[in-house]
Amino acid sequence: MSDFRPICVSCNERYSCKRNGVTVAYTSESIQAADLWECPSCHYQIVIGFSQKNLSKRECKTDSAKRVYDSYLKNMVAGPGVDVEQMEPFQV
Ligand SMILES: [Zn+2]
Repeated sequence: MSDFRPICVSCNERYSCKRNGVTVAYTSESIQAADLWECPSCHYQIVIGFSQKNLSKRECKTDSAKRVYDSYLKNMVAGPGVDVEQMEPFQV
């Protein structure tokens, strides 16, 4: 069976999944759910496994949803994750 886990170039260790479903800034204008992985040796973190759907700010229907959206966009990883599939309407 193939092992698809990423390999840390510095440590030659396999990354492990630290948290499923974090929300990240995918582009400068959209957020998306993905998974946070970490090297067990140097603790370098990466985000992979993006969902199929972006959420843009114009899709946020309330002011509180827009504030949460801005906080995610400001921080690359600002978990806990939000299920992007459930964001319409953005339940905050
Ligand atoms: Zn490492």
